Amino acid sequence: MTGYVIETRNLTKSFKGFTAVDDVSLQVAEGTIHALIGPNGAGKSTMFNLITKFLQPSSGTILLNGENITKRKPAEIARMGAVRSFQISSVFPHLTLLENIRVALQRKMHNSYHFWKSEKGLDVLNDEARSILATVGLDDAERNLATELPYGRKRLLELATTLALEPQVMLLDEPMAGMGTGDVQRVADIIRRVAEGRTVLMVEHNLSVVADLSDTITVLQRGAVLAEGTYDEVSRNPEVISAYMGA
Ligand code: ADP
Ligand code: MG
Repeated sequence: MTGYVIETRNLTKSFKGFTAVDDVSLQVAEGTIHALIGPNGAGKSTMFNLITKFLQPSSGTILLNGENITKRKPAEIARMGAVRSFQISSVFPHLTLLENIRVALQRKMHNSYHFWKSEKGLDVLNDEARSILATVGLDDAERNLATELPYGRKRLLELATTLALEPQVMLLDEPMAGMGTGDVQRVADIIRRVAEGRTVLMVEHNLSVVADLSDTITVLQRGAVLAEGTYDEVSRNPEVISAYMGA
């Protein structure tokens, strides 16, 4: 074992000669909140797409809990416990919030079809779905259709469907994008709470949120690692300062 939940070794992705991710060796330690930051176009989303195998790397290796997953498919990665939320919509607009969570819960449960068809099975599912909705503060809206939610709450529902899968590692791509200040604080609190007992890798532009939440920060610039460390360390790094001032 490497001791890392996610590890990339010399990961590279080129699009028709343009190198979006350039020889990145990233190590995400178990139980930490690890932030990936950097100017627009730095390669952050491409890193996420590579780790979750939505994109095939040009070269390099990706490990999940020490196992080489470079040749695995996205659904396999999710089953192995690395689940991505946001920017990929996991919400069914015409189901209620409770139904949305039930769908997610049933994906990970292995009890028999007959159990879930029974009244008892439905009670068990509903109880668990309600407790997940409560975690993200959506329990007051369980009978609403997902499509009726305002934007910030829709994203909370996406986070809740991801939680229902009980991921070992959650990959969050700009979880606060487009949210107002109140929702940003709310999502930060939720991330801190759901990070207990699991690992979070997140891309986030809001630096005060990153400073507040992250154990480790990796700064990408033009596809390569510019700096890595705690917020205090990277924010004092002259190269990081000039990358951000010049951006
Ligand atoms: P970030 O998320 O850090 O803003 P991205 O990973 O989305 O950056 O993109 C990194 C670079 O790779 C950008 O210049 C982007 O235009 C390019 N890129 C990303 N995906 C593709 C693609 N499918 N085809 C061609 N270029 C791409
Ligand atoms: Mg991006």
